[in-house]
Amino acid sequence: RAKDDPQDPVRFYEGRMDEASRARSALAMELRDALREDRFELHFQPQADLGSGGVTGFEALVRWRHPSRGLVAPDEFIPVAEATGLIRDLGAWVLQEACRIAAGWPENCRGGARGGYRVSVNVSPLQLAQPDYVETVQDALLASGLAPELLELEVTEASLVADHERLLEVMQGLKRLGVRVAMDDYGAGLASMHALRSFPFDRLKIDRAFVDGMLSDPQALAMVEATLLQARALGIPVLAEGVSEETHLAALRRFGCREAQGYLFGRPMQAAEAAKLITREEARLAAAAAAAGASR
Ligand code: C2E
Ligand code: MG
Ligand code: MG
Ligand code: MG
Repeated sequence: RAKDDPQDPVRFYEGRMDEASRARSALAMELRDALREDRFELHFQPQADLGSGGVTGFEALVRWRHPSRGLVAPDEFIPVAEATGLIRDLGAWVLQEACRIAAGWPENCRGGARGGYRVSVNVSPLQLAQPDYVETVQDALLASGLAPELLELEVTEASLVADHERLLEVMQGLKRLGVRVAMDDYGAGLASMHALRSFPFDRLKIDRAFVDGMLSDPQALAMVEATLLQARALGIPVLAEGVSEETHLAALRRFGCREAQGYLFGRPMQAAEAAKLITREEARLAAAAAAAGASR
């Protein structure tokens, strides 16, 4: 019988499997070439302080500049990069590139009074599992000159389920460097308050699904409120992801949320746009300071 004969479930399944894994290894090869040919780029999405409304930093988000498909979103290639191990090399590139770009942001090279703009970088479980991961981070900081406290690494709960001891060790190594570690996509999986207590996270990012559903779904609203209460009890600052409407803001402020990221404040943008945004932000702050000085 033919491989794609639906009358023969096993052969049919095997045929489909082959097809899927063939497509996957073709994609993996393309990704490898893309990395060698420098076809990935980082976009930066602003993060805002809900008190002052000011920009505090940016999350670096990888995209693939494909010759015929245009800009490809990470959800379409990160899973394959993870499955094939390519995420190690891709992740190292992302880290170096994010540090290099962030080190060039205005306040960051002058060591400005407000302490500079942070850059957040997503880290995959395979990267954290590398024996020399902490050194990789240290190398990226040294090569770029970025101040360690301006780098934040975002880990997901997928990293928590592996080896607790090992993760704790890596996190402590990163802390010694002065780097911050955030828990990403909180609420989307099984990560619990226990995880927040067991690991020294500097920040918690509430998954955008909850923020998005907050106004229509009472359970999502309760989840956001409970997370903010828990985090406050543990002394961990919270950032809400996926804030796309003014109405989200009112509820988040009411629950004591201090920071947010989402289309309301800005979409992920090219590095040059992020630099322009910082320049505008600096001008705004300088004007506000001058006005405050004049009125004294
Ligand atoms: P994430 O780390 O949770 O990043 C936030 C995602 O939410 C981004 O999608 C961002 O564009 C999107 N987003 C932000 N604000 C809004 C909003 O208001 N509304 C909506 N609908 N979406 C919003 P993006 O860039 O497509 O990235 C998707 C995921 O891919 C990321 O989720 C992260 O898990 C992964 N990823 C991205 N870059 C990297 C990377 O360099 N390394 C690794 N390991 N994963 C990455
Ligand atoms: Mg993230
Ligand atoms: Mg997230
Ligand atoms: Mg995510």
